[in-house]
Amino acid sequence: MEAEIIAIGSELLTPDRVDTNSLYLTEKLNQAGFEVRLKSIVGDNAADLENLLRAALQRSRLIVLCGGLGPTEDDLTRSATAAALHRRIMLNEEILESLRRRFALRGYRMAKINERQAEVIQGAEILDNPVGTAPGMWLEEAGVYLALLPGPPRELKAMFESQVMPRAITLGGGRRSEKRTFSLQGLPESEVDTRIAPIYKDYPQIQTTILAARGCISIRLQRWLAPGEEPADLEELAGRIRQELGDVVFTTADEALEEVIGRLLRQSGRSIAVAESCTAGSIGSAITRVPGSSDYFHGGVLCYSNELKSELCGVPRELLEKHGTVSAEVAEALARGVRLVARSNVGLAVSGIAGPGGGSEQKPVGLVYFGLADEERCIHMRRIFAGDRDTVRDLATMFALGYLRRFLMPTEVDS
Ligand code: AMP
Ligand code: MG
Repeated sequence: MEAEIIAIGSELLTPDRVDTNSLYLTEKLNQAGFEVRLKSIVGDNAADLENLLRAALQRSRLIVLCGGLGPTEDDLTRSATAAALHRRIMLNEEILESLRRRFALRGYRMAKINERQAEVIQGAEILDNPVGTAPGMWLEEAGVYLALLPGPPRELKAMFESQVMPRAITLGGGRRSEKRTFSLQGLPESEVDTRIAPIYKDYPQIQTTILAARGCISIRLQRWLAPGEEPADLEELAGRIRQELGDVVFTTADEALEEVIGRLLRQSGRSIAVAESCTAGSIGSAITRVPGSSDYFHGGVLCYSNELKSELCGVPRELLEKHGTVSAEVAEALARGVRLVARSNVGLAVSGIAGPGGGSEQKPVGLVYFGLADEERCIHMRRIFAGDRDTVRDLATMFALGYLRRFLMPTEVDS
């Protein structure tokens, strides 16, 4: 069952505004059993919208339009839709009355221009707007259904939830979409695809997508199910992919790395502190994004100067002089030091060259050392990240979190 979304508004074609309604609508339509086949954005242009609608009527079962239902000249969704359907527009006295009442309640006289919001396309069912003035419409044309909704997200959501969703679910006929998400770290996207493509190609009925964000990869499996159908093949594919990728997968739920880390720390009753040079607090920031993280996160030191590294985190001056700030020895000493000063079980440290300046032949821009220490172990890892300052810092943050996760896992992987 296919749906399409049309967002209307010239502001959505400028660099300043983005269409967010369609993300919400897609999620809801999927839940109702509809695949979103196409999304379009048109400006406040009647001819463009009319043409788009004519094409949409040929290919989709459900068309959701949002925006352009306001009272002003540029709000032409009503008229363009009426034209595409060859229907007339009529003034609805009931809506007009309720609009007048709404204005009167607030002590205003309704301007003439607002009467347009009481105009209804012939044959439309009215969708009440509990949080705004522009009512929506529900229409049927030769087996194709159209929902016309206002643009402001708050109004659109309230109306979709209460009035469009029940209709969409009925039309969807009990179809539903099931998803599985894996997140992993430590393999390039190309390698992930090379390894799992031979597996997922056995399941053409399941849509497999690989999304790579900085330092992290997500694999999404999605499958449409008929009423009563069980996603056995989805479980099977998920299991095979999981087995192929092994330990690099940090979650099979839709959760972030820092949530996994929080769970590992909590389960084992351990606490952590961080010493961050190069990443300037973004590791601590990620860890503390998880509610309740202060139970296990003791704190962090942003130690850029050598003085702070030695005075606050106890890194011996000789070590800094002999090996340089960005070195394995200093990363390990920082991890040990911050762990002791914060009286935590685990210490994590980062020291690197984010660039663009400060690199040398032996220590190029992008070189980052990571240190980890607990009661028994003290290890380090060396990495060179490519990219600008922000990228190096982001990649170092993600890498540190991944390194920490492996350190915390019962079967630990060392350097
Ligand atoms: P309209 O219903 O066209 O008068 O839209 C009113 C306001 O709703 C616009 O100025 C936008 O701020 C917002 N809006 C309209 N369409 C969208 C959309 N697709 N996504 C997010 N916001 C929107
Ligand atoms: Mg508009």
